[in-house]
Amino acid sequence: MNGSNASYTPRDVSREFGEDYASRIFSGNVIRRRLSPQVLDKLERTIRFGTKLDPEIADEVAAAMKDWATENGCTHYCHWFQPLTGATAEKHDSFLNFDGHGGVIAEFSGESLIRGEPDASSFPTGNIRDTFEARGYTAWDPTSPAFITINGGEATLCIPTVFVSWTGESLDQKTPLLRSVEALNTHAMRILKAFGSAEGVHRVTSTLGCEQEYFLVDEDAWSGRPDLMLCGRTLLGADSPKGHQLDDHYFGSIPHRVLSFMGDTEERLYRLGIPAKTRHNEVAPGQFELAPLFEFTNLACDHQMLTMSVLKKVAREHGLVCLIHEKPFAGVNGSGKHNNWSLSTDTGHNLLSPKSENHSNLQFLAFVTAVVRAIDLHADMLRATVANAANDLRLGANEAPPAIISIFAGHLLQFMIDELVEGKTIQKAEGSVMELGSESLPKLVRHAGDRNRTSPFAFTGNRFEFRAVGSQASVAWPNTVLNTIIAESLDHIATKIETVLDEGMSSSDRDTAMMTILQDIMKDHSKVVFNGDNYSDEWKQEAERRGLPNLRTTPDALPALDTDKARALFDAYNVLSTSELDARIEVLYEGYVTVCEIEARTQVMMLNTMVLPSVARCQSELAESVASAAAAGVQSMAFKSRLEEIVSLTAELYAAGQEVDEIVTAKWECAKERSCEIRDTLLPAMERARTACDKLEGLVPTDLWPLPSYTELLFAGLS
Ligand code: ADP
Ligand code: MG
Repeated sequence: MNGSNASYTPRDVSREFGEDYASRIFSGNVIRRRLSPQVLDKLERTIRFGTKLDPEIADEVAAAMKDWATENGCTHYCHWFQPLTGATAEKHDSFLNFDGHGGVIAEFSGESLIRGEPDASSFPTGNIRDTFEARGYTAWDPTSPAFITINGGEATLCIPTVFVSWTGESLDQKTPLLRSVEALNTHAMRILKAFGSAEGVHRVTSTLGCEQEYFLVDEDAWSGRPDLMLCGRTLLGADSPKGHQLDDHYFGSIPHRVLSFMGDTEERLYRLGIPAKTRHNEVAPGQFELAPLFEFTNLACDHQMLTMSVLKKVAREHGLVCLIHEKPFAGVNGSGKHNNWSLSTDTGHNLLSPKSENHSNLQFLAFVTAVVRAIDLHADMLRATVANAANDLRLGANEAPPAIISIFAGHLLQFMIDELVEGKTIQKAEGSVMELGSESLPKLVRHAGDRNRTSPFAFTGNRFEFRAVGSQASVAWPNTVLNTIIAESLDHIATKIETVLDEGMSSSDRDTAMMTILQDIMKDHSKVVFNGDNYSDEWKQEAERRGLPNLRTTPDALPALDTDKARALFDAYNVLSTSELDARIEVLYEGYVTVCEIEARTQVMMLNTMVLPSVARCQSELAESVASAAAAGVQSMAFKSRLEEIVSLTAELYAAGQEVDEIVTAKWECAKERSCEIRDTLLPAMERARTACDKLEGLVPTDLWPLPSYTELLFAGLS
């Protein structure tokens, strides 16, 4: 394994990113230009203000989409959706249709745009549907623009859609997300009305920008690792002597092969209408990050799914493999996806941005109070939204936020919260100017708050950053829950405010009344705010004293969704019916079990067919060497003890491997019970097998070891 760059050729850098260039493949503006003013107006109202879609416009929109798509080489279209697998799905149909005169024409009707009919039985339904009840529908989501993908030279028009069963129950990630956006809009608008700020505002939605972390490894090294191929992470592998101890990778200069990959990725993303913005090296060797400009949540979620698929595809074109797993390498920092969340009006006003006037700040504090209350009341549920087998390897491992959900307020917000709780006039804490000690350097304005990288939910000046989301997860589910719990708190606050306000009140009386309401709520819920080091043991103890949940694993976390409180909440805000929620919980347990079992089977296969045979060869060589030394009249003590050491580690490895095999082949019925069994018996046995295997890796000659090492995976071929 030499990490060869043979398949890598430098890219052509002569590119331009004008609107026309992007619009060759992204329908955002080009479709609009092809529509009549009346149809465009109706479509715009649906997209911008959430008004009901008029089915009458579908034919004209479909025809415009088809013309644009065929001009760009498409022969097929697909309804693109996000089933509960966590991935995306698409079923392609050609534009061909009978023309009624014995021939065929290229046609795309409004009906085909609005509705598709994929078979629902092959997607996870969490027992909502039996296999024989297979009918499912996809329905056009006009708020997310269609796009063209080019794969293997084939151009396909992709139409973002929701996916529901024949009974109308959601079988996907997008439907509940859109419903949660509606709930948020309804109650955020009530707050704006109460503060007299609703004029000219049609809608409030959440905005989202996701920082995507990932690893790149050379394809040659990757192809020697069945665990990376099948599971996306290494199940065996001794530490490399050098990891990130020297901190020389983070923000270091980007290796040229990687930069070339990043450039191609960004070009592909721009063409899809995805606004990639930042790129840099991350903490671990071979680890990088990409962040886009933020967008409305629904679109940002779609774009996030596309970004992951573009990263993976472009990597292969560069002879690289992009690993988006949360923990590809033990002992090396894992990857997350910081979920930057805020609230914005359709007029572009960020509602989580503090202002300098007192009255506006009170409104800002109303939104912040809603967030604090929501996180305090539902920390366990939010934790459950990021629970899966892969993220369990990362959360709480002193590299990622702990499983305890708390809020970092920072200097600015903490100051305002303190003022509020003490009943003072709310001022904005100002930043100050930093002198850098040299006349030739500019003076920098200090932000009003420092950063805290250890917090799972941090206020970062004009948004909250939920940092516990896993790198390969769809962000739709965490944001669905975030939107819903915050909608509930906005509803709670709006109701309180609406009851105390009356027409004739002076503005200062109104402010005082509102402040008292917010003050009471903040007093009750500020225990979820913590500004210290979330990695420390003291925080774990302190969190326990404050009664904050610490749900370490997926089987510990998922029960938070399976409560009357959760069912009532999702039902009240029309986000998920009880059966839809129950289905999701079932899918989450099944997902955990399936992933862990695939990993266990892969580990057993690698131990039996790769590691043990190599160790046997090594043992024979050593035994021969000891015997031939003895035959020559010399006692080889060093080789004898090395042989004993290897024999004893092999016995440990074999026993643990057998145990893994037995547990994984055992029959089971209930996914929830099975997940606890996996946590308590299977994972510890896999860990024991790995420990013995990794020790052997340090003793067996490199030419006999059957797997590319961590050193090769993390360092070969990336510069
Ligand atoms: P850092 O690593 O310093 O936190 P990055 O620039 O890597 O910052 O990422 C910040 C992310 O936050 C970007 O994706 C950006 O678009 C997003 N963001 C900024 N403002 C908002 C906002 N108002 N709503 C949602 N996301 C936002
Ligand atoms: Mg970043």
